[in-house]
Amino acid sequence: MSARPLPAHAPLTQFRVADGQLLIGGLPLERLAARVGQTPFYAYDRALIVSRVGELRAALPPAVKLHYAMKANPMPAVVGLLAGLVDGVDVASAGELKIALDAGADPHEISFAGPGKRAGELRQAVAAGVLINLESFREVGVLAAVSAELGVAARVAVRVNPDFELKGSGMKMGGGPKQFGVDAEAVPQLLAEIGAAGLQFEGFHLFAGSQNLKAEAICEAQQKSWALARRLADHAPAPVRFLNLGGGFGIPYFPGEQRLDLTPIGANLAELAACAAVEMPGAELVIELGRYFVGEAGVYVTRVIDRKLSRGQVFLVVDGGLHHHLSASGNFGQVLRKNYPVAIGNRMAATDTETASVVGPLCTPLDLLAERMELPPARPGDLVVIFQSGAYGASASPQAFLGHPAVVEVLV
Ligand SMILES: *Cc1c(COP(=O)(O)O)cnc(C)c1O
Repeated sequence: MSARPLPAHAPLTQFRVADGQLLIGGLPLERLAARVGQTPFYAYDRALIVSRVGELRAALPPAVKLHYAMKANPMPAVVGLLAGLVDGVDVASAGELKIALDAGADPHEISFAGPGKRAGELRQAVAAGVLINLESFREVGVLAAVSAELGVAARVAVRVNPDFELKGSGMKMGGGPKQFGVDAEAVPQLLAEIGAAGLQFEGFHLFAGSQNLKAEAICEAQQKSWALARRLADHAPAPVRFLNLGGGFGIPYFPGEQRLDLTPIGANLAELAACAAVEMPGAELVIELGRYFVGEAGVYVTRVIDRKLSRGQVFLVVDGGLHHHLSASGNFGQVLRKNYPVAIGNRMAATDTETASVVGPLCTPLDLLAERMELPPARPGDLVVIFQSGAYGASASPQAFLGHPAVVEVLV
């Protein structure tokens, strides 16, 4: 029997190591923990976010604008940093809208999506002057009333539920029956109502899905989105000025996953931008990304409280867990639980390893941060680091569950 090599995590090269300590934002991990004043914490590396935006700008044609979908990481300091680097911010609630506006994002370049926007939220969005991605016929009526009341025409784009799916996507958010957007076949009727209501039509928003590591699938979805938007534009009450082709760029989380290749995506978008310049002149092409900007720049850091042996297996019990980092525990949309990349951040130079599981302090077997991984032998006081944690971390976790202390977030 020949042993098949186990799939490994994609190599993590974004953080340097010095004297056995992981460096985050240039600071050795123990020093950073002292600066933060507590564990657990999330740390986001400012320089890595800046360089990620630069890599995208270099790989994609200049005609394509970059938007930050801030639900991936709504920490105000992170939103403030990205607002100054990208071309726009996409929000999905009035709460996110406030953070984006406070962060100094240009209201003209903010767009607001979501399947159940309350009348009050729509009123705030119109008053702010942001672009609203319409997702139902009901929203047309609400916006017409709000526009009349405030004396400001609502700026709208139509979020289309396309007639195709994003293949190989971790989370599908378009195609088939969905609560998001308006089915492509009903969009001509919606466009007529937008025109009749006197709303300011600006374009289309298509978002097929998220966490995709297959460049061909992303290119195919972009091509189909473009073709669909072109067909629908014939029914629009005004020229298309804004075409959001979605995003879905994934990052490698689990063993066996490879980094997304941006080269074919850049070539594909250059081709689409050339078509758009001729066939939809004046339309700005937008890509909206969340995790791709921030996911790899963030770590979750938690300290070992106890080291237990149970029937031959090592359990490192740490002071953080699923209440801060639901996705690393495997309970945020994953079908099969797999391990995020994990390290003992103050023993990066260790050469010996043991098989250990990392568990949190919650009284539930779901509180599992690493299952039977090869790690340097760790002791109470050591720092366990979960990589790829800059997106869908603190704000996507049930912090009140079981009454443990809240997590702290820092941008370093
Ligand atoms: C969640 C979401 C995104 C961001 O997805 P990522 O996988 O974080 O890039 C972008 N657009 C819309 C409409 C979303 O709902």
